[in-house]
Amino acid sequence: MDAVSRLWRGCAAVWSPARMWLSLVMGARFSTSLAHLGPPMTRDPGGRGVHWVFLGCPGVGKGTYASRLSQLLGVPHISTGDLVREELASSGPLAQQLAGIVNHGQLVSDEIIMSLLIKRLEHGATKAESGSILDGFPRTIRQAEILEGVTEIDLVINLKLREDALLAKCLGRRICSHCGGNYNVASVNIKGENGRPDFIMAPLLPPADCASKLVTRVDDTEEVVKERLQIYNEMSKPVEEFYRARGKLLEFDLPGGIPESWPKLLQALNLVDHDDKQSASA
Ligand code: ADP
Repeated sequence: MDAVSRLWRGCAAVWSPARMWLSLVMGARFSTSLAHLGPPMTRDPGGRGVHWVFLGCPGVGKGTYASRLSQLLGVPHISTGDLVREELASSGPLAQQLAGIVNHGQLVSDEIIMSLLIKRLEHGATKAESGSILDGFPRTIRQAEILEGVTEIDLVINLKLREDALLAKCLGRRICSHCGGNYNVASVNIKGENGRPDFIMAPLLPPADCASKLVTRVDDTEEVVKERLQIYNEMSKPVEEFYRARGKLLEFDLPGGIPESWPKLLQALNLVDHDDKQSASA
């Protein structure tokens, strides 16, 4: 039996305990729904930390904004894409199988993603982490249902960017192979049409130390990005509707790059004071 079949069987066998475990480490199964009681920052029952999810197409900037919010709010940023890439970089039994899936822009099975997520949450539990900002999960309705069965998500932020900018952003994405920093060399400047304003996104260039160590993700080629965008529309768009129907979806149209978008996102999340306090104490 190959590694994936063993994992599949293992997952099936432990599915209920896994759900139970997820609910324990995410700590919210029995919490009351607070989603409609007020703006996001008032939704923190007993200091359990925020439980937020980022949705959005490849290249939209989920990782960037999730990571910034995680630092601001002191909750872990958990990116299933990062978990998959860590597994890929390891010499673990799944690495080869994952490469065939990820490098072609396909989705990894729910079972594998759940097992990576559970492993990550177990690790967090040993460090007494509370709350989470999930990025890249859930990506299918089934994943959303599993998550709903184990925890109360307070808010789902759906980042949106015009489609012609997404491809450029994915192709311009670079990672420093030394420090892991994320940069983008794309300079997006799309002429406004039909009364729409020009859309400008300046590149996010690396510091001199990282400049010679930049690498591109294997799945950030034009062909694979187009495949990922198509898969997002088929498999993940319905997840937006899942949360919209539950009144949890905050739609956020990115007005430009980080300098324009970050303050507006903080405003939309009612976090401007929080950011000011943190800056003052820094
Ligand atoms: P993107 O830039 O497309 O949002 P991510 O970094 O989130 O990419 O994910 C990279 C790859 O990891 C995906 O294309 C997919 O193969 C896999 N992956 C990440 N999260 C999930 C998930 N929740 N379900 C299935 N596959 C996933």
